[in-house]
Amino acid sequence: MADGKWTSLSFTLNTGDKIPAVGLGTWQSKPNEVRTAVCAALKAGYRHIDTALAYGNEKEVGEGIKDSGVPREEIWITTKLDNPWHKRVEEGITSSLTDLGVDYIDLYLIHWPCSTDPADESLLTAYEDWDFIDTWREMEKLPASGRVRNIGVSNFDQTQIHRLLRSGPKIIPAVNQVELHPNNPTHNLTKLCAEKGIHCTAYSVLGSTNSPLVKDQTLAGIAAKHGRSIQQVLLAWGLHHGYSVIPKSVTPARIEANFQVDGLVLEEDDIKALDVLPDRFKVCGDDWLPHKIFLDRDDKK
Ligand code: NDP
Repeated sequence: MADGKWTSLSFTLNTGDKIPAVGLGTWQSKPNEVRTAVCAALKAGYRHIDTALAYGNEKEVGEGIKDSGVPREEIWITTKLDNPWHKRVEEGITSSLTDLGVDYIDLYLIHWPCSTDPADESLLTAYEDWDFIDTWREMEKLPASGRVRNIGVSNFDQTQIHRLLRSGPKIIPAVNQVELHPNNPTHNLTKLCAEKGIHCTAYSVLGSTNSPLVKDQTLAGIAAKHGRSIQQVLLAWGLHHGYSVIPKSVTPARIEANFQVDGLVLEEDDIKALDVLPDRFKVCGDDWLPHKIFLDRDDKK
């Protein structure tokens, strides 16, 4: 998008619905701070909020939305089905709707392709008789009720996307929300998603808490050249690639700064330099899950 009008941009999903390009992330935003953050973001112009049952903050996110005074229909809300709820999709969505205090969710995602047995409190046991394909069958029932407008997935790599598509789904996921930033560009995964009509949302696009990305000299040089912050350049990188971005902050000044990306159009050379950074790493891993989720190493460059 040559004119860089990012904050009024939206991406059209395979359902025809439009997801706003810039949203607010809320993972690790604590109950006593997320209400204020969500309200500040909506007042600053954001119209897309990302949360999840697993974040334990949907109630406060809902309160922040109400505090803002912005009409519900102007806001895109994404939330996610937690791993121990895979056999209880109906209960999961009911819980999220109740806590958020809304009648419908714009986008409901399978948070991880990992169906975990809640009977084991350590949450380290995967179901033997159920996997994410079964969960997707349950997810597919939701849009008919009107309580969920779009369904999608998160943390699905190429292997899992191929498996899901080969299983003969009635609905193709509208979105795959994955970790995307210059040190984890996963070009092969995002290319596959684009070919299959699945929009990608970039999470941890700033490099998450205590971001290691900010030390990168290439990134710092590009930010200095454009007179912008490193975080704004990271957002522009994601937007340039056609991903929606959901930077998280509970700091009002940062929430505003992250929304001040209009006019920041990276040059082709900037994008090329960022796309081939030698260091490849994820900031969010899968070590805490009962089995490995990230099966593909994807692209090295
Ligand atoms: P981000 O990459 O958005 O980085 C958040 C961190 O950056 C926070 O520590 C924040 O600090 C800081 N920060 C934000 N803006 C600025 C700024 N302008 N200058 C300096 N520091 C800044 O990390 P997340 O991992 O939170 O990812 C974003 C969102 O993506 C999550 O909140 C969640 O909604 C979603 N997500 C989804 C996952 C999934 O499995 N589907 C996994 C991980 C994330 P502070 O808040 O203190 O201001």
